[in-house]
Amino acid sequence: RQRILSGMQPSAGSLHLGNYLGALVHWVRLQETYDAVFFIPDLHAITAPQDPQELAHRTRTTAAQYIAGGVDPDRATLFVQSHVPEHAQLAWVLNCITGFGEASRMTQFKDKAAKQGTDTASVGLFTYPILQAADILLYQPDGVPVGEDQRQHVELSRDLAQRFNTRFGETFVVPEPFIQKDSAKIYDLQNPTAKMSKSASSAAGLVNLLDDPKVTAKRIRSAVTDAGTEIRFDRAGKPGISNLLAIYSGLSGRTVAELETEYEGRMYGHLKVDLAEVVVETLAPVRRRAEELLTDPAELDRLLAQGAAKARGLAAPTLAEVYARVGFLPAA
Ligand code: ATP
Ligand code: MG
Repeated sequence: RQRILSGMQPSAGSLHLGNYLGALVHWVRLQETYDAVFFIPDLHAITAPQDPQELAHRTRTTAAQYIAGGVDPDRATLFVQSHVPEHAQLAWVLNCITGFGEASRMTQFKDKAAKQGTDTASVGLFTYPILQAADILLYQPDGVPVGEDQRQHVELSRDLAQRFNTRFGETFVVPEPFIQKDSAKIYDLQNPTAKMSKSASSAAGLVNLLDDPKVTAKRIRSAVTDAGTEIRFDRAGKPGISNLLAIYSGLSGRTVAELETEYEGRMYGHLKVDLAEVVVETLAPVRRRAEELLTDPAELDRLLAQGAAKARGLAAPTLAEVYARVGFLPAA
């Protein structure tokens, strides 16, 4: 079987609708036909300041949401990144074959660094894409399912794999990005030209998997639209309405064209009320199941430990080969 790998940061208390539609639903489908590796990148989360207790809680909460959304821990390999030390170890080697200029061109770094302040943003934030390359390359996956926002990072991991293979001999599979089509990209409800983001969106701009349904419905109803009246998909001219249509389509399985026809001549308010209901109905069972899983943290930790053991079995041979190829003396 071909292998895929993906992860979502425990950088917030809840995953959002972008994570759900842009990632989780695809993972659940892909685990049927691929050897799937899903992890919780807690090493990545500390590239922005985190409260330690919160981080531990969020890591469990994220695991619970993966499972509640349909990830099967028996079928897929599900684990926490910091439980597998090979990630940090390979990242160091990859750091040493990445150009400073090359890393400086990562647009997500530029965006996040601008927000954190260019002087205070950590070196960890700067090398984040290289750690991500290590996350990927350790498992020799054929495909990396990610949203459009991650395309540049997957490209970097391909470049690093090829560079390492050329310099030191064939070691890594060069992974293909499995990019979800553009309609799967979900935008901030209050700022519909920016992507919905755990770390960058304001609360009002987010639809969270674990929020109370009343809060969720209110946020959909308060979404920014435009001064017009027509319910039509036009990403440039009507970003707010286009985002609502994309969410509706993603959750209901109906095409945007069908929705445009159904809402022809109706008001923005109608669309919002109906969409709020669709969102709440879809997310309610996921939320319930996640809450149920979180009542037994010991069982969650057991599943994660089992996943980490499986993951190390895959990662350790890759790291051993890398170490040998770069000329590190065997430890034993
Ligand atoms: P952060 O702000 O901490 O970077 P994030 O919201 O961008 O968080 P990630 O953990 O970086 O979430 O991404 C997890 C997965 O969710 C990735 O596959 C990413 O492409 C996808 N994703 C993130 N935001 C969106 C979005 N708005 N629409 C569609 N997919 C998204
Ligand atoms: Mg992100």
